[in-house]
Amino acid sequence: MCGGIIDLRSDTVTRPGNAMREAMAGAAVGDDVYGDDPSVNRLQELAAEVVGTEAALFMPSGTQSNLCALLAHCQRGDEYIVGQTAHTYRYEGGGAAVVGGIQPQPLEFSADGTLDLALVESYLKPEDPHFARTRLLCLENTQYGRVLPLDYLAAARSFVDCHGLALHLDGARIFNASVEQEVPVTEITRHADSVSVCLSKGLGAPVGSVLCGSHSFIEKAHRWRKVLGGGMRQAGVLAAAGIVALTRNVERLADDHVNAVALAAGLRSIDELQVDADAAQTNMVFVGVRRDLLPQLRAELARRGILIGVSGPDRIRLVTHLDVEAADIATAVAAFEEVLRSPPVRRAGRL
Ligand SMILES: *Cc1c(COP(=O)(O)O)cnc(C)c1O
Repeated sequence: MCGGIIDLRSDTVTRPGNAMREAMAGAAVGDDVYGDDPSVNRLQELAAEVVGTEAALFMPSGTQSNLCALLAHCQRGDEYIVGQTAHTYRYEGGGAAVVGGIQPQPLEFSADGTLDLALVESYLKPEDPHFARTRLLCLENTQYGRVLPLDYLAAARSFVDCHGLALHLDGARIFNASVEQEVPVTEITRHADSVSVCLSKGLGAPVGSVLCGSHSFIEKAHRWRKVLGGGMRQAGVLAAAGIVALTRNVERLADDHVNAVALAAGLRSIDELQVDADAAQTNMVFVGVRRDLLPQLRAELARRGILIGVSGPDRIRLVTHLDVEAADIATAVAAFEEVLRSPPVRRAGRL
């Protein structure tokens, strides 16, 4: 809870706590466009070490991080294969096509958030001037809160090696995956050529992502970051928050997962709600509700200080994070019960 509000819309809503603000206030800084910012340099070294890559680059956002990755992997006229509902394809303004002349080949995700490799294979384009050149497979982990199985990632690695493709992992919530699977994050990232990690989601930093990969890859991404206007100056005040996020806020993601399980369990007892069967693998719970009930449900919950996300006309998305405590879960479930059992919502539903 923060300011009397229980905000379940996203894990991006977290506010920096005291330790993070103190680190930001005390950060040593320099001009990062000259490579002079010690805090940015430290964050980048730390991220590369933790994620298990040669190098890393501090980015203003996950969107810019993914875009720089796509631009570094692909040329104009190349193609990347991606999920229909993947962030890079659906929620980033089509940046790869807009800026890079990179064609997306979107495919349906399987129910577990993977892309079926036989399906991917059937969409690889032959070397022929009729076609874009397929260069890259892009996966997302977690995908709508679902954790990609480790054996799938190994199979995807063999697949891209076999077909001469690169593999980019949009790991906005990669630490949720590693905490859930109880493996070092490197067990996940070792299969990818590049990984984008959000510091500003469950890890609680106010701003920023890190893009991780080989030296030569990061060199190309660095150039694109400048082109896109992402060269920041005394960015150490932000990087300092990222260092706290990576060193102090990873293990506690397990609490968010426990809270999500409790939330899913509580909402399952409410007849008007259909909680997804595999809900709450990590920190997200998706819930179906009749579309005629949803607008008023959302408004009535907001009146009670509970903010919910919407992921379609008849679907709710609830996300746990470091500003949601265990006690808030019971409060939220009670509010859902109260609203859905009160006459005005039922009447509206019959209209
Ligand atoms: C949030 C998110 C991003 C982009 O991050 P921003 O910092 O919001 O630009 C990319 N991929 C996934 C899966 C995300 O959830």
